[in-house]
Amino acid sequence: MTRKLAVWLLLCLAGGFNARAWGVIGHRVVHQMAIYGLPEPLRQFYFGERTYLLQHADRADLRRADDPDEAVRHYINIDHFGPRAAWQMPMYWTQARQKYPADTLLKHGILPWYTEQMRQRLTQAFRRRDVDSILFYSADLGHYLADAHVPFHVIQNYDGQLTGQEGIHGLWESDLPSRFLADYQLYQGNARYLAKPQVAVWEAVRRSFKLAQTALAAEHQVAAQFTQATKFEAAYPGRLMRPRHSPAFMDQYQTALGDMVAQQMRAAAQMVASYWFTCWVDAGRPSLPRPAVAPQGPVAPDQLAQELAAWRANQLHAQGWLLSQPPVKE
Ligand SMILES: [Zn+2]
Repeated sequence: MTRKLAVWLLLCLAGGFNARAWGVIGHRVVHQMAIYGLPEPLRQFYFGERTYLLQHADRADLRRADDPDEAVRHYINIDHFGPRAAWQMPMYWTQARQKYPADTLLKHGILPWYTEQMRQRLTQAFRRRDVDSILFYSADLGHYLADAHVPFHVIQNYDGQLTGQEGIHGLWESDLPSRFLADYQLYQGNARYLAKPQVAVWEAVRRSFKLAQTALAAEHQVAAQFTQATKFEAAYPGRLMRPRHSPAFMDQYQTALGDMVAQQMRAAAQMVASYWFTCWVDAGRPSLPRPAVAPQGPVAPDQLAQELAAWRANQLHAQGWLLSQPPVKE
């Protein structure tokens, strides 16, 4: 078994391939891209732990099955609070609590406030140089930040259910990235220090909110050329409990959206890397231990350099180096 195949199988076993936010593939790609965007010595440390970080990129979604408090951390129905709420909502939880009762806020989702709690925990983990906690919070914080970049995680009409566009959520965040990943430009540039992380995450929510309107309008236009019978697959075998769009519909919708999904993947990766970097800087730039030998075996010394070159040239997929993609037959 090749090492690439072993890593892929390990990731499959850990997560399965049913649809969740960004899809499993999307979350893993975002985390992988984020690692490349880090400065040294963080990059070397995270790269050595990439199997864990990718394996657990969707752990927060899996937790929803057991923890009733989990689901609200993945979204915010911002327009419940008014059409301009994305620009007017208090950025910090204590201020939001002064304006609204906790049960109202919890009912409509707490994503951009919960990332702040995660940011503080990751910063504390860096201060303690506690590797297990650093990895744990890095994986979860990355997940929630990536969710903030999905337009259908920030609106009430989160699956087009209010406008007869059911299924658009999974289509946008899971089916399109799975189908078109090879075509996406996946180089997002380097991490930046975030002097005001809360401003950054709310900017992401606003961008997602605006994109949701564009994505819904585009779906409406494309759907006008289809009937219900041609828009959806007649039957879809497997574990998905939702209607699945036909390949012809997916192709036209992808064309209508242009770069939108890939652009949001890049923006998510950029923000995840910037948060990880910011937490480390705020913790006083602690030295980090070299990672233990990764589960898939020692990494070739020049492997990171080769992957970085492929990332910059947008060749990760072509090289078969996206760890969440099925291995190219050798
Ligand atoms: Zn999620």
